[in-house]
Amino acid sequence: MEKLTHYIAGKNVAGTSGRFGDVYDPATGQVQKLVPLASADELDTAVRAAAAAFPAWAAMPALRRARCMFRLKNLIEDNRNVLGAMLTSEHGKVRDDALGEVTRGLEVVEFACGATQLLKGEYSDTVGTGVDAYSFRQPLGVVAGITPFNFPAMVPLWMIPMALVSGNTFVLKPSERDPGASMILADLVQRSGVPDGVFNVVHGDREAVDAILAHPDIKAISFVGSTPIAKKIFEVGSANGKRVQALGGAKNHMLVMPDAPIEATADALMGSAYGSAGERCMAISVAVVVGDETADSLVAELKPRVEALSIAPGNTPGAEMGPLITGEHHARVSGYVDLGVTEGAELVVDGRAFSHAEQPDGFFIGGCLFDRVSAGMRIYDEEIFGPVLCVVRVNSYDEGVKLINEHVYGNGVSIFTRDGDAARNFVQHIQVGMVGVNIPIPVPMAFHSFGGWKQSLFGDHHIYGPEGLRFYTRVKAVTQRWHTGIRKGADFHFPQLG
Ligand code: NAD
Repeated sequence: MEKLTHYIAGKNVAGTSGRFGDVYDPATGQVQKLVPLASADELDTAVRAAAAAFPAWAAMPALRRARCMFRLKNLIEDNRNVLGAMLTSEHGKVRDDALGEVTRGLEVVEFACGATQLLKGEYSDTVGTGVDAYSFRQPLGVVAGITPFNFPAMVPLWMIPMALVSGNTFVLKPSERDPGASMILADLVQRSGVPDGVFNVVHGDREAVDAILAHPDIKAISFVGSTPIAKKIFEVGSANGKRVQALGGAKNHMLVMPDAPIEATADALMGSAYGSAGERCMAISVAVVVGDETADSLVAELKPRVEALSIAPGNTPGAEMGPLITGEHHARVSGYVDLGVTEGAELVVDGRAFSHAEQPDGFFIGGCLFDRVSAGMRIYDEEIFGPVLCVVRVNSYDEGVKLINEHVYGNGVSIFTRDGDAARNFVQHIQVGMVGVNIPIPVPMAFHSFGGWKQSLFGDHHIYGPEGLRFYTRVKAVTQRWHTGIRKGADFHFPQLG
């Protein structure tokens, strides 16, 4: 069986820990390859390679680093289908969704191409007689990225271009469940002209992550994954003196107002709740509907659409939803649906028994739709991360906003309405980091930054875009005087310019 390698100092390196993880084809339910799980020593080898490559890479003019990003952009475009096929094979998502993921990652590379403009400093001349002041940003050193299974290409690309173009060297620890895309990215980064050692991939599980948290030469960690792990990464990483941005889980709501166009709203909910089998951190998993009449008509629109979902292996033409990532995750999602029934929610569409005729061992589940869900039920309070949409009925706009604001997660949210006043009020008062107005999945473009609030993000910096660049750099402020031959004698008070 195929065994993946690590990618360290420009070379594919076989794992030496003796530990391997299974990588499944979720559509068949079969193990398709093995991924090495790194020891702390193997992680250390990668960090040493990155540390050795740092001085020359950091000293390279940003213009030349940006040229690597231009080449990387072209290489990703040329290999879009190769990357997409890998995502479908290991993650299970349908082909068009996989290509969309590649495009959203590519956009961050495109943003990084503008590094020379983005890294320009600030200058103030004559802040005192003969004195000028300026500030500029310098890279941190070796930085690490730890990424989740659900976007095996896009989430690493939220980090790699931003970290590299600003002069850092990088160690990526991708999800061990679908690690193949990171090896394609490693090949493309190398072909873009980035010197060996600047970008490294170390596969692994908790052991590798703990080694990252403890390594003294890693200056910063970008993490994307579930909230319990994000919290741990932030707490331990910060305590170890590292800069940390740790993006966590989500429970994203859509507030549906009585004036929302109901068919278009149902269409939007279908894509955002069931696309990628609900395994998206920006998936809408709760529709908060104002008024029973609106809720009745929305559920009536949703039910046949959920029942008619085309569920098949991701490379099947016309498939709308592929399988879940693993059998274990399938059991978890299905268990939440059992729980919802026990908790008293009304299961309008039950997808638990779905099985694909030709792939009965694939990790497929049908779309599920719950009505009359309420706060306090675990299917509402917790992230399910599967194709399960909950409808919560409220009596007013204010009740809906209060409900959403009281949720522990604050990643994404959306309002569907024709009422500009309501929409503006919503944007102003909702306690969530990314807001859509009649947009079901409001993922910010690469030239803005991505990040949730509350339990959806630990740390001060959102990821990619301008905030990403700030995360990967630190400011140096210089005040300079060139001697003019004027002697004033020694000053013993605190220096005052001007
Ligand atoms: P996960 O937290 O299980 O894993 C994320 C990473 O952490 C992986 O690389 C994994 O190897 C590592 N890890 C897992 N358990 C660990 C442990 N005990 N100690 C140290 N490291 C550990 O997340 P996942 O299941 O791969 O991804 C799904 C989750 O990611 C969902 O909760 C989803 O909402 C979240 N997510 C969030 C965003 C966001 O932008 N906020 C984006 C994508 C995914």
